[in-house]
Amino acid sequence: MTRSNTGQSRLALHGGSPIRTNNLPYGRQEIDEEDIAAVVDVLRSDWLTTGPQIAQFEYDFASATSAKYAVALSSGTAALHAAMYAIGIKPGDEVIVSTMTFAASANCVVYQGGKPVFADVDSGTLLLDPDEVERLLSDRTRAVVAVDYAGQPCDYERLRVLADKHRFTLVSDACHAIGGTYRGVKVGSLADLSTFSFHPVKHMTTAEGGMVTTNQTEFAQRMIRFRNHGITTDHRQRDREGSWFYEMIDLGYNYRISDLQCALGRSQLSKLPSSVIRRQEIASIYDEAFAKFEGVKPLTVRDKVSHAYHLYVVKILEAELGIDRGQVFQALRAEGIGVNVHYVPVHLHPFYQTKFGTSIGDCPIAEEAYAQILSLPIFPAMSNTDVDDVVSAFHKVCDKSNW
Ligand SMILES: *Cc1c(COP(=O)(O)O)cnc(C)c1O
Repeated sequence: MTRSNTGQSRLALHGGSPIRTNNLPYGRQEIDEEDIAAVVDVLRSDWLTTGPQIAQFEYDFASATSAKYAVALSSGTAALHAAMYAIGIKPGDEVIVSTMTFAASANCVVYQGGKPVFADVDSGTLLLDPDEVERLLSDRTRAVVAVDYAGQPCDYERLRVLADKHRFTLVSDACHAIGGTYRGVKVGSLADLSTFSFHPVKHMTTAEGGMVTTNQTEFAQRMIRFRNHGITTDHRQRDREGSWFYEMIDLGYNYRISDLQCALGRSQLSKLPSSVIRRQEIASIYDEAFAKFEGVKPLTVRDKVSHAYHLYVVKILEAELGIDRGQVFQALRAEGIGVNVHYVPVHLHPFYQTKFGTSIGDCPIAEEAYAQILSLPIFPAMSNTDVDDVVSAFHKVCDKSNW
């Protein structure tokens, strides 16, 4: 029993009984016996890392996203770094990055010595605004990182036109959007390079892990080398010189993923379609509940999009509720509802303000949204009762007379 039935209207924040006595997190992984068995099989095999599971996982992932190549790495951040390396980002280059994202979407540019140029977002979807990209283009722009915020694909149609016209590489940070589509095309095939994360809070997990998909052979080859210290093994040369032979031709990293993780990834991937459907079901219950709810406004969903719903985000409108996002956040947390805020716009982080001279006012739409947004619990194992608890807690907390 998680629902309490005393002190209905007194906020838990003020000493009343909470809607839930056990906390409902905003996201959570789902691991079943099949997943466990897949990992145990690898533990009993000869290959804990650099074995057959890696190529298998890449093959499965490329198939699932309709991409020609998938390159697996140790994290989503490593995937973004590898993408920047594949493009050849170097000092003097600029990369336009959506500011409404996790810091890693921009940090990868800095790893390569490039300069992230932060772009504002559309106020309804919080997705990268192509007009902003056009405004920020310069003769140094080498790439654009579009972030499929919350799980819906960006406007890749317009971004593609811009990329072809101005000859930049289009990167999709699709860490939120695996399983989504735009105009029937799968996320993973919508940009020149698409990056994914398998952190436990994402749609599918390998504990830590990431992937880049691409259709370009050279990008794939460069990333495979990059994740393994910049080492190549030319098989013909190896045959000639002896099987011990290898050469390091550029500076890479150890960004490898293990076979244990890839076995888990393959097992998780097989359940992705049903888990995305469950996320969409939960989102539609929320949509219905908030449609008539003054002062709580879900983000809008673009046409021709299948939204993968890594996050379900609403805006808290203080002018209508008489209470602000910070208050709603505190009160919901006290009710046992694990809400969160995604994200502090990246250009506002002290690192970027200090090192790149960004400041408040650079991206006004993202900054305004940041003061209003709240991410609600959404994960496949959530029951409809859990969803009802969230909605009940909103009714309780957003009623000014309960304060
Ligand atoms: C999770 C995430 C990352 C980083 O992934 P890690 O696997 O944690 O390194 C990058 N970008 C976005 C948008 C993310 O959500």
